[in-house]
Amino acid sequence: MNHGDRASDDRLRQAAQLLRSARRVVVFSGAGMSAESGIPTFRDAGGVWSRFDPEQFATLSGIMTAAATRPGRLAEFLLALLEPIARAEPNPGHRSLARLENHREVTIVTQNVDGLHQAAGSGTVHEVHGSMFDVVTMSGGPLRTVTREELQGVVAALRRLPVDAVSLDELAAAVEPIMALAAAEPYRPGIVLFGEAMSEPAWSHALAAAQQCDLMLTVGTSAEVYPAALLPLEAQSAGARMITIDPAHGGQDLWLRGTAGEVLPRLVDAAFATA
Ligand code: NAD
Repeated sequence: MNHGDRASDDRLRQAAQLLRSARRVVVFSGAGMSAESGIPTFRDAGGVWSRFDPEQFATLSGIMTAAATRPGRLAEFLLALLEPIARAEPNPGHRSLARLENHREVTIVTQNVDGLHQAAGSGTVHEVHGSMFDVVTMSGGPLRTVTREELQGVVAALRRLPVDAVSLDELAAAVEPIMALAAAEPYRPGIVLFGEAMSEPAWSHALAAAQQCDLMLTVGTSAEVYPAALLPLEAQSAGARMITIDPAHGGQDLWLRGTAGEVLPRLVDAAFATA
């Protein structure tokens, strides 16, 4: 969003007015929300899905096959996924959403698995695709949570593996705090892979929040991943006003074109700085 561009300033003012008039705000965030925290999106140029075939790495059966046949390649994928999350911190966008709670009832519904909304201080966060910090049984039952430091330990262990000759045993030892697919009682990260059910009760809470909000702020999502992408449709058909913040995807909503870290603080300040 360019400062001084009259049309974009008008849109910011309109959005600030919508935010002031709203009682219940739902923020629906996707990978772009955390891009400025150093976590790349998957679909944008250079993203994970341009380097790793989602057919193979986005499903549990694909990951199990990769573990058995190409443990070195799986180690590379896990590093690409875990390393940015393990070292990330909330960006000004996350922090301004936490600040928004001083002014309005805010529910965050996120597709992200990086824990950054909570780290920024947001109080109500529904993680519809689960969390990289949850460890679950193969049927999804909660086992324990890990800290960001423990994730950093897994990343360090993966980094120590010999690049060209990783054995399955070495890989298993490196990821043991979060994943043991061949153990007697196997466990895995509590994130939703392709074809898996949405995380509960987060999804039910998210649907209810979308149906009851009067304003939805959609931030940094291409809205191509279903059923998560149904949430803006639910909110809109229940009569909510819609604002989108994204540098590339705007749709029919009031579109504040720009990055989350830049636009969200300006929006929250414009709505409430003098309130
Ligand atoms: P997506 O469908 O959520 O799309 C990414 C969107 O972010 C695009 O519209 C892009 O224009 C926008 N974007 C890029 N930089 C931005 C910025 N600085 N500010 C605002 N918007 C920006 O993402 P995907 O990458 O295809 O992800 C698919 C699934 O994987 C989603 O569930 C997503 O949440 C998850 N994922 C999570 C993380 C994370 O936890 N941080 C990272 C990557 C992917």
